[in-house]
Amino acid sequence: MEKSQTVLITGASRGIGAAIAKRLAESGHDIWLNYHSNHKAAEAVKSWVEARGRRCLLLPFDVSNEQEVERTLGPLLQEEVPYGLVHNAGITRDTLVALMHRDEWDAVLNVHLTGFFLLTRILLKAMLPLRRGRIIAISSVSGETGLAGQVNYSAAKAGLIGAAKALAREVARRKILVNVASPGVIETDMTRNLPIEKILPNIPLGRIGRPEEVAGIVNFLLSDEASYITGQVIGVNGGLYM
Ligand code: NAP
Repeated sequence: MEKSQTVLITGASRGIGAAIAKRLAESGHDIWLNYHSNHKAAEAVKSWVEARGRRCLLLPFDVSNEQEVERTLGPLLQEEVPYGLVHNAGITRDTLVALMHRDEWDAVLNVHLTGFFLLTRILLKAMLPLRRGRIIAISSVSGETGLAGQVNYSAAKAGLIGAAKALAREVARRKILVNVASPGVIETDMTRNLPIEKILPNIPLGRIGRPEEVAGIVNFLLSDEASYITGQVIGVNGGLYM
């Protein structure tokens, strides 16, 4: 059987995930495109990918819902084992911790961290016997430095770094590489309402980033050129955190 070059990307209907899907399609990957509920945006990415001659399978499910993950991916994995997983789906529920509701804490931890667990668990069962694969988690500068008003998000993103490093050690002998891309402030729906003018003085490069600039590093981490890189956190942040 031909070796699969398919990559499953979570949260790829918009923002950074959509840019990753497009960049990977340009590199010749077929895409399993997960998203939550924005069908129209997902269809637009699918059309873009298919226009470049690659396959794109739309997989709407909640990455934090165990039943949905298993029900959607279980049958697909019987047919094909993707080469890569990019866990990019994300949400924020920003507020000071003293005012934070339990559901705001749970929602953020569940999508980022429990999602990573559920997805890597089901994919690795299929990937391990094949002794090939790449896993990339999208963390954040918020998880590396901590950010006031984002205790839930910083915890989730720092947790992803720890989880990815531990997993990198766990699966290295099976030739599966696990890395983290850690963006700074990137222009997407997630950052639309941030006071960018106040943030800019802290960014040495003097501007916020573009989704394509994160997609480039993910593309590299999935390439043959990254064959000796595992357990690493690669910042894409304009120097915001060094
Ligand atoms: P975005 O534009 O808000 O897009 C979020 C994506 O995640 C959408 O595709 C959304 O699907 C999907 N999603 C949300 N909850 C989901 C769930 N429960 N199950 C499946 N998919 C879900 O976000 P972004 O700015 O591109 O961020 C992408 C990743 O980069 C996130 O992990 C974020 O934390 C991280 N990041 C972003 C920045 C930044 O400055 N933007 C910086 C550092 C890290 P729908 O379209 O269906 O809602």
